[in-house]
Amino acid sequence: MSLIVQKFGGTSVKDAERLRNVAGIVTDTYKKGNQVVVVVSAQGDTTDDLIEKAAELNERPSKREMDVLLSAGEQISMSLLAMAIEKMGFPVISLTGWQAGVQTTSKHGVAGIKKIDTERILAELDKKQIVIVAGFQGISKYDNITTLGRGGSDTSAVAIAAALKADLCQIYTDVDGVYTADPRIVKNARKLDEISFDEMLELATLGAQVLQNRSVEIAKKYNVNLEVLSSLTKAKGTKVVEVTKMEKMLIKGVTKDTSIARISVVGVADVPGIAFRIFDLLGKKDINVDIILQSIGREGTKDMTFTVSAADADYAAEALREGSELLKDKEILVDKNVAKVSIVGAGMETHSGVASRMFEALYDAGINIQMISTSEIKISVLIDKSEADRAVIAIHDKFDL
Ligand code: ADP
Ligand code: ASP
Ligand code: MG
Repeated sequence: MSLIVQKFGGTSVKDAERLRNVAGIVTDTYKKGNQVVVVVSAQGDTTDDLIEKAAELNERPSKREMDVLLSAGEQISMSLLAMAIEKMGFPVISLTGWQAGVQTTSKHGVAGIKKIDTERILAELDKKQIVIVAGFQGISKYDNITTLGRGGSDTSAVAIAAALKADLCQIYTDVDGVYTADPRIVKNARKLDEISFDEMLELATLGAQVLQNRSVEIAKKYNVNLEVLSSLTKAKGTKVVEVTKMEKMLIKGVTKDTSIARISVVGVADVPGIAFRIFDLLGKKDINVDIILQSIGREGTKDMTFTVSAADADYAAEALREGSELLKDKEILVDKNVAKVSIVGAGMETHSGVASRMFEALYDAGINIQMISTSEIKISVLIDKSEADRAVIAIHDKFDL
């Protein structure tokens, strides 16, 4: 007997037919004598629809109330799935995040899981129940409902698997694994049999939404046996593992992130302490900065350019304008028309020429690079948003993935 956590995303539970399909997968696993904990997302576009509904009433609703609203999406799926399983004659119970003991930080909208008190889930498993848990949600120490950020059900599933020391955590989605690029953009993208935690973490952080990046962090930390597979086909999925043995590929994948913005602070004094002031102000507002570029000083001034998430961009510019006398009258440009395209692969560390090959692909496609950043296992470029898909395809072709 194994303990298996199975997570089903929005498209996998989008209507009655898909819910019946999921009920089939879950009960097949249960029938084989396994203990099964299921984590569900909201149906189809429910989360987006709820966000729209909120905007009709209030353009800046409190984050607490947004969490109360959005958590409802997962609560609908969990109960409907329980009913479908009940109908098939199996013992089942659905639990909200708080009932399942998911304790989080109190940062509404982007809460992090602090601890999972597994007592209730274990008690239900002991009673031979199939346990369904609402993904994407938990409870803060103030007893408020929190949500874990978009795509957060992946993180709920992996964290529950880690807390229960589950034998396996399966992420069922609408593609049959992790590909060398988003198969919706690159038609000849290839499915990977395996990918390392580090590579998957980079891919997820750089825009491959197939797994939320925090789920991969937790999987790595607790060495969760993790796989990504399709709820609609029986195809073998992708295993996410500590060290890959099968594929010795230089580059594992190409991704794009279109929800970022570039901010330039123009003509700041070329004196010590400017970078500190800018990034300290942003840090205090909890704004994460990604690629940073400082121009060479000329005539006593310089420009500081950096990227942030698109959602933070206006808030960041406001924080800089209001936060420091030194920046108050400076020109602060916000450009949301940008995308970050990246390549990821643990193999590139020991190979030269990877960057130039990527840049050549962009040159061949006539795409201009605005900023570049590199690390041991990734290279990212900032380009015009309208060219993001073309860039992903060109780079994917160049590396013959
Ligand atoms: P779910 O609703 O099941 O959580 P998501 O929409 O969050 O599913 O994630 C699955 C989607 O991720 C796929 O439909 C695919 O278009 C996209 N995706 C982006 N990059 C990749 C990649 N490298 N491999 C697989 N899927 C990817
Ligand atoms: N329903 C949430 C979202 O759409 C969480 C998830 O699907 O994982 O982001
Ligand atoms: Mg998802």
